[in-house]
Amino acid sequence: MTPAQAPTLTLDNRFARELPEMALAWKAHQFPAPRLLALNESLAAELGLDPAWLRSEEGTGLLSGKVVPEGATPVAQAYAGHQFGGYSPRLGDGRALLLGELVDDGGRLRDLHLKGSGRTPFSRGGDGFAAVGPMLREYVISEAMHALGIPTTRSLAVVATGQTVYREEALPGAVLARVASSHLRVGTFQFARATGDVELLRRVADHAIARHHPGAADAEQPYLALFEAVVAAQASLVAQWMLVGFVHGVMNTDNVTISGETIDYGPCAFLDAFDPATVYSSIDTGGRYAYGNQPVVAEWNLARFAEALLPLLAEDQETAIAVATEALEGFRPRYSAAWSAGMRAKLGLAGHADDAAVSTVVGDLVTLAQDNRVDHTSLFRSLGAAARGDAEPARGLFLDLAGFDAWTQRWRSLGPDATAMDRVNPVYVPRNHLVEEALTSATAGDLGPFERLLEVVAAPYDERPGLDRYADPAPESFGTYRTFCGT
Ligand code: AMP
Ligand code: MG
Repeated sequence: MTPAQAPTLTLDNRFARELPEMALAWKAHQFPAPRLLALNESLAAELGLDPAWLRSEEGTGLLSGKVVPEGATPVAQAYAGHQFGGYSPRLGDGRALLLGELVDDGGRLRDLHLKGSGRTPFSRGGDGFAAVGPMLREYVISEAMHALGIPTTRSLAVVATGQTVYREEALPGAVLARVASSHLRVGTFQFARATGDVELLRRVADHAIARHHPGAADAEQPYLALFEAVVAAQASLVAQWMLVGFVHGVMNTDNVTISGETIDYGPCAFLDAFDPATVYSSIDTGGRYAYGNQPVVAEWNLARFAEALLPLLAEDQETAIAVATEALEGFRPRYSAAWSAGMRAKLGLAGHADDAAVSTVVGDLVTLAQDNRVDHTSLFRSLGAAARGDAEPARGLFLDLAGFDAWTQRWRSLGPDATAMDRVNPVYVPRNHLVEEALTSATAGDLGPFERLLEVVAAPYDERPGLDRYADPAPESFGTYRTFCGT
């Protein structure tokens, strides 16, 4: 065995340097016995980190906050946010730290961040810690999203801390090492705006432009161009969630990124029955973040972003509001275009010339699938087989057989491309019952089911023999699924 190579790991502190008012230098809790549970070797390679070193005592120390590379400045980031519609002026990293930024093999700047690393001045009533289950949950779901081609933060590692975390029960603690193209959120701008310091707000905006939307710098109105770019990125992101049946569950403005990456996998889950009213989160009693509400909520969150940006959009408030309102009106057409193009592709009709016929077929399928409470993932994948002539697997999902047959005939007359469908309709998503099974085992000490699930969802479009149970919907006995915030 070659010895682990001590890295020349250099972490930049660009956020802390450029926005010191929003970066509180802080140290992670010193956990007594960190032990690596999961390591993303391909992501490590992308970041130029040697997996063998990350597995060493020093590497595991880095991944859990014990080891700070020379010159690095870990910080807790300040942000505000609307949570379930109510404004909190001071949220911030209450159990997380930004270790710093590094340049990946594609030349992109990426944040290296820890979640569950102990209390900070933003912790309020929280203990600053995280449990093994929720951190592995974020790991497997974010990596599944990445494999599905959906923009997301990534998971580099989960380290067990050796410390007990107290929730409703005593649980083993863990730290997640997360990688993101940044942790700038709508809430970051809300915090800057609330300070009343317009120059700080401008520096946050300049930082965001440089990192995520550099084209905006050359626009006539760079801050308006930034807003438009974020509107476009979020419209595209939420369309992708809808197309794959992902329910984020806690779309507070502090969980909405400027980059357009999915962030903060708490009570999220994948749809089983195709039902717009689906809510999994136990705290979302009003259904604010229900599956079907996600586009409207995204637009609402972008309106909060616009409010934060107002002083940068025009000299006088009235003009600024008019400019922002017009730009926000771009959300709906962008979202609809992205969703419609995605549905076309899911039905194998990407290149079809007859727009009207395609939209009727799409609309009718949505109605039929909702009325029949059909499993979302199984439906689209089995339609690939139907496009090849075997409609039985899809037909078996419906109670209204006559309705399904009539729809299928109309759809097939448009000539769907089955091969193209299989490239966009996953066979394997992290189904709720499989995630629960994997996390229950992992919490009890057996990582086997977690590792197998991760391997399956890492290649979601590639149907493999022997993996039927990963493609099947939950058994009836699984019952109604409830998720809890990742605390
Ligand atoms: P989240 O629901 O993970 O997006 O977190 C919302 C806010 O609550 C953020 O400011 C977090 O830092 C904070 N928070 C969540 N869990 C904890 C915890 N266990 N200890 C301290 N702060 C927390
Ligand atoms: Mg959050």
